Amino acid sequence: METTKPNDFIRDIIDEDLKTGKRDHVATRFPPEPNGYLHIGHAKSICLNFGIAKQYNGTCNLRFDDTNPCKEDTEYVDSIMNDVKWLGFQWDGMYYASNYFQKLYEYAVELIKMGKAYVCELTPDQIREYRGTLTEPGKNSPYRDRSVEENLALFEKMKNGELEDGSAVLRAKIDMASPNINMRDPAIYRIRHATHHKTGDDWCIYPMYDFAHCLSDSIEGITHSICTLEFEIHRPLYNWYLETLGIKNPPQQIEFARLNITGTVMSKRKLLQLVTEHHVNGWDDPRMPTIAGMRRRGFTPEAIRNFCEQIGVAKADSTVDMSFLEHCVREDLNKRAKRIMVVVNPVKLIIDNYPEGQTEEVEAINNPENMDEGKRKVIFSKELYIDRDDFMEEPVKGFYRMAPDREVRLKAGYYVKCTGVVKDENGEIKEIHCTYDPETKGGTSADGRKVKGTLHWVSATNCVDTEVRLYESLFNCQNPSAAENFLDTVNHDSLKIVKGSKAELCVNDLKVGDVVQFERTGYFCLDKDSTEGHPVFNRTIALKDTWAKQNKK
Ligand code: ATP
Ligand code: MG
Repeated sequence: METTKPNDFIRDIIDEDLKTGKRDHVATRFPPEPNGYLHIGHAKSICLNFGIAKQYNGTCNLRFDDTNPCKEDTEYVDSIMNDVKWLGFQWDGMYYASNYFQKLYEYAVELIKMGKAYVCELTPDQIREYRGTLTEPGKNSPYRDRSVEENLALFEKMKNGELEDGSAVLRAKIDMASPNINMRDPAIYRIRHATHHKTGDDWCIYPMYDFAHCLSDSIEGITHSICTLEFEIHRPLYNWYLETLGIKNPPQQIEFARLNITGTVMSKRKLLQLVTEHHVNGWDDPRMPTIAGMRRRGFTPEAIRNFCEQIGVAKADSTVDMSFLEHCVREDLNKRAKRIMVVVNPVKLIIDNYPEGQTEEVEAINNPENMDEGKRKVIFSKELYIDRDDFMEEPVKGFYRMAPDREVRLKAGYYVKCTGVVKDENGEIKEIHCTYDPETKGGTSADGRKVKGTLHWVSATNCVDTEVRLYESLFNCQNPSAAENFLDTVNHDSLKIVKGSKAELCVNDLKVGDVVQFERTGYFCLDKDSTEGHPVFNRTIALKDTWAKQNKK
């Protein structure tokens, strides 16, 4: 997709750094914690970090921030790698923060030796109490003035597993009266007797995020460490560690606003809860805002990348309307999705004057947006299916589709005129009868006679039974996170499964993940639950574009 080069305050900083010679290259990283699947918010960070590296001929690493042994898993590591690649990016180096555990430990020992860190044995409750509040300064821990020797010996004990979880922490000695609470002697290392997904039982002390992150950045030679706004208040600490340890050419942390989207949640903790409590069918449920869910739903990497570029990078938090993401998906699929005819909610249409037993092929355009894709042959026959919604026995004003005595066009087929209906014992329409005009093959009449409605259809004798899954928003409100319990806002009617839909034979040629446009209905993606002769489609998105409608110039 050819777009103009993005411009934002981060790129301005980089331009300036390159101009003044502060930097002679650009190195970024994307640092997910492998404690869940990636979501569309991560996609924004990925597009930004990898996009900048590409634009400046620099590098971008994938770094798993795996400093918390309790919540991390290799399933997540694999899914993250897969999702980054699927989005169209390739990392230069792939690392784990746990690769640096030995080096980080040595840095911590260095801080102790400088008199800049101490082992504190206050209980977690006491630490909280001593920390003070936003309006009151904290007070010094009674352990703050231990000798270097004592601290080294205690830290060694922590490392050797001689102390219990929570009984001691290593803390930076900064300033308990700092207006920034993060600077009030933050923890550097804590004790966790837990098995780590990479390092197993090698360690029972684990570094805290702030300590590990800035030093991992510096070990990898990162120049611009881009993160979200909530870390702004951690920046002084990020810089303090680097400065105190005398790191040359230290990385620079730059914060941008995280992406929020209406009608969904974007915290891994909440997404995990949706999965474990079975509100959805797994991380890749098409209703999830995860990359895996969006892929399964039929969103394309191009659409997601374009969306991330269009929304831009800002310094203040805001919320993007879900309809804009959907608009980007629609725009992309409109260009690339092949059109086919599928009748989601079928009713029989019988052409009384069409010869019994006859079938013929008509030609349908594959994609009117791209005529290079040519035409395909569709079988036409005496008995067809059309959608129930395309018929009204007593048409209301503005309804131009099929109704008694009315002539309409069958797309790429013929003009047909409704002659009557047959109902079952419950009064439900069982079949609709019509006659066709043989002179209108292809859907045009030689005498210039016009019809208002054009319907899609499939041959009842040459079609495939399909299952169609229709998705609505997973939540009943625009901001589920604002609810006391976001789970109370889950929309339990967000998945509707329709069985017995009828599709053109060409669906047999589709592969899992292919997206097509069901004419007049929407975009649909072939799901992995499909089996031989029984395709299952996820509705990616309906055709109607609410965003474009509201934003028409
Ligand atoms: P969550 O809050 O969903 O648990 P996180 O920030 O803890 O997300 P990480 O795995 O730590 O998730 O995130 C990896 C990177 O992605 C970080 O640099 C983070 O700032 C960025 N990121 C996470 N969520 C968003 C978002 N909504 N918008 C933009 N960037 C995000
Ligand atoms: Mg995190």
